[in-house]
Amino acid sequence: MLNPKPSQRKLSLRASSRDTAPDAVAPRPSDDDSVTSWMSGGNCRNYPPAVFFPSDGVGVDRARKICSDCPVVDQCLEYALEHRIEHGVWGGCSERERRRILKRRRVATA
Ligand code: SF4
Repeated sequence: MLNPKPSQRKLSLRASSRDTAPDAVAPRPSDDDSVTSWMSGGNCRNYPPAVFFPSDGVGVDRARKICSDCPVVDQCLEYALEHRIEHGVWGGCSERERRRILKRRRVATA
């Protein structure tokens, strides 16, 4: 099976985390060394994936609020920036905010 795109991996993790059984939320041992193992500690595991792919500003604010006290917010944002994920709220940042961060970084290194 091909590796899913990063955004699909997040969606899939979030979808499986909606299960009510506690075992369904716990990371699998094989995930411990993966570059996405931090996802299992995200606050979003307790919400439907659609919350983080909002269609308006109100939805973005709602997702940002959930992210604001997420224990893996830094990893999440860096992951989204590194993988140039264009859609959704990651690391408490909207698509537009992530584009601005990337632009600032490009300017800073030029
Ligand atoms: S920062 Fe937000 S999107 Fe990222 S893992 Fe935490 S709750 Fe999920």
